[in-house]
Amino acid sequence: MGMPGVGKGTQAALLKDALNVPHVSTGDILREAVRAGSSLGRKVRGLLDSGQLVPDEMMGDLIVNRLGQSDARRGFVLDGFPRTQAQLGILDRVLNRLGGRLDVVFLLTAPEDEIVRRLSARRTCPQCASVFHLEGNPPRSPGVCDKCGSALVQRADDSEEVIRGRFQVYREQTLPIAHAYQERELLQEIDGIGEPQTVFERLGQAVELAS
Ligand code: AMP
Repeated sequence: MGMPGVGKGTQAALLKDALNVPHVSTGDILREAVRAGSSLGRKVRGLLDSGQLVPDEMMGDLIVNRLGQSDARRGFVLDGFPRTQAQLGILDRVLNRLGGRLDVVFLLTAPEDEIVRRLSARRTCPQCASVFHLEGNPPRSPGVCDKCGSALVQRADDSEEVIRGRFQVYREQTLPIAHAYQERELLQEIDGIGEPQTVFERLGQAVELAS
């Protein structure tokens, strides 16, 4: 968990490699649906571009399907879900049904201005979802994905105005979820400032503690 742009996707990608489990990013799944022009994609495109949340019912169907797939049986790194009170309940029910439980919930933190700076310099690969940063983690050739060679893009929701709106959605809807996990003693707050590898070392220490 953490504000948009705090580094959840970057850390989740590192964590899934280290743990050898899938990275389930609801944002990536939705962006892929938009790119593919599926019926889900057509319904959610406007919401994504304007930084609003997709309705809980649609998200529930999506997460039930994804976590039910066989590659998630050994575990998964969940990124971007749950984001509302209703989604917290949905995740509890899915995990209950699958016979799983959350080991740990990370809350990545960083000051807002730092995040705005990062998001304006973020570039993503529309093909394989790799994330780059023009200053901190630039692609080897400008504008080209290191992993798959596709042209990098700036996400439509990474403009400063939309970013500020996404922060507000986060504060109102998602922060209370972090508090709920804190009460369940699952929350590990991680300082998200620094190079991706430095932040990842902090996560790694916390994972060892939690396992
Ligand atoms: P992200 O890549 O996690 O920043 O998500 C990008 C956008 O996808 C969000 O601004 C929402 O429009 C949508 N989205 C992703 N995850 C969720 C979720 N759990 N609930 C509702 N909308 C979501």
